[in-house]
Amino acid sequence: MIDFTFTENQLAVRDMAREVASKVVIPTIQEFDRKHTLNPELLPAMAKANLLGFCIPEEYGGMGMDYISLGLACEEMEYADTAARVVLSVHLGLFCMSVLTWANEEQKQKYLVPAAKGEKISTFGLTEPAAGSDVRGMETTAIKKGDKYILNGEKMWISLANVADQFLIFGYHDLEMKKTRDPHGISCFIVERGMKGVTTGSIEGKLGVRAGNTGWISMQDVEVPEENLVYKEGAGFKIAMFCLDQGRYTVASGSCGLIKACLDASLKYSHERKTFGVEIGEHQLVKQMLANMVKGYEYSRYLWMKAGVLKNEGKRNTRETALSKWVACDEAEQAAHSAVQIHGAYGYSDEYPVERFFRNSKGAAIYEGTREVQTLMQADYALGYRKDKKLERELPIVGQE
Ligand SMILES: Cc1cc2nc3c(=O)[nH]c(=O)nc-3n(C[C@H](O)[C@H](O)[C@H](O)COP(=O)(O)OP(=O)(O)OC[C@H]3O[C@@H](n4cnc5c(N)ncnc54)[C@H](O)[C@@H]3O)c2cc1C
Repeated sequence: MIDFTFTENQLAVRDMAREVASKVVIPTIQEFDRKHTLNPELLPAMAKANLLGFCIPEEYGGMGMDYISLGLACEEMEYADTAARVVLSVHLGLFCMSVLTWANEEQKQKYLVPAAKGEKISTFGLTEPAAGSDVRGMETTAIKKGDKYILNGEKMWISLANVADQFLIFGYHDLEMKKTRDPHGISCFIVERGMKGVTTGSIEGKLGVRAGNTGWISMQDVEVPEENLVYKEGAGFKIAMFCLDQGRYTVASGSCGLIKACLDASLKYSHERKTFGVEIGEHQLVKQMLANMVKGYEYSRYLWMKAGVLKNEGKRNTRETALSKWVACDEAEQAAHSAVQIHGAYGYSDEYPVERFFRNSKGAAIYEGTREVQTLMQADYALGYRKDKKLERELPIVGQE
């Protein structure tokens, strides 16, 4: 039996996120979306409101809140704009929660504490120009030389690449294993912006998430101290899959915020706009689109909360998290599509926010595992192939193997 009653603390986190979203994101979003830039006030405002580390235990600079709070905060941020939720996804979900689970005490003190306090912005670099879904196809290498690893490679499509101070980076430490694409040859490192040979840049001309930063990270003979190897050599692939369990959860819950934003905008417009002498909400075909948004919102929410409860209990949740991500992203795309349709020609311009919702909704069907990857995962779970083919990658929340 799952209890979906929110605690006072969970609601307090939701309200904190709602306040930042309504005061900092919503009033400026059209301007920054048009300019294709991150609002420079967003990260400081999120840090000030403790939004950059609230799921991290107090001993590491956070507030010790749970996964349901994280989901509620993601809903609120993405209700305002997807780019604002992406900050929670990469900084808190992919970096902080993963460092908390996999890093040693020294690494936590050095990298997690400032991240949780919002003093250092963090992100996650897995994707490369020629390797997205096919993680094992990565080209980045991390070759041990004395007490250092020498990193060479390019990471592409990395959220906050051009603003983050520290990066979780994955690369092959073993060239023979790289040739055979053996995932045990992949290791994970914490790389700092200031390290010699690290350069970053922004990707221009994106379809959506325009008020966010997405970019590339180039590493040329970067000397990373062995102390920055996370957990142990060869654990990189498992860590990356664990990271995606956290990130997908934030995308699923964030997508519910996007569905709600589409629904609210469409309800308002359906009352305002009249055709053939009645509000357009009176037309059955418009009602159908609105009803589908309600349906998508309610069951997508149930799925991310179910995954959140499992996470809170430390139970395996890869299948449930991936399912919630797949369903919520599909529903958000459909809701945004319908929201533009309901707004008619006005939905085709950024005078109304639904045009931005439409562009933003596409990204979630691509990042953190494409729709096709999610579909295959669910089929493989149902068929029993993930176990049979040793594709079982589920990991406990706490504990490392
Ligand atoms: C806005 C944005 C932000 C991002 N942020 C980050 C980030 O912070 N960090 C990070 O590491 N990455 C990030 N990414 C990258 C993202 O995770 C990848 O784009 C994603 O994993 C897909 O990889 P790809 O683009 O290389 O597509 P590909 O893997 O090349 O896929 C191309 C197409 O082929 C399909 N396909 C591939 N393999 C199969 C298969 N086996 N069966 C069926 N169909 C298949 C895919 O579903 C897709 O439709 C971001 C991407 C975007 C757009």
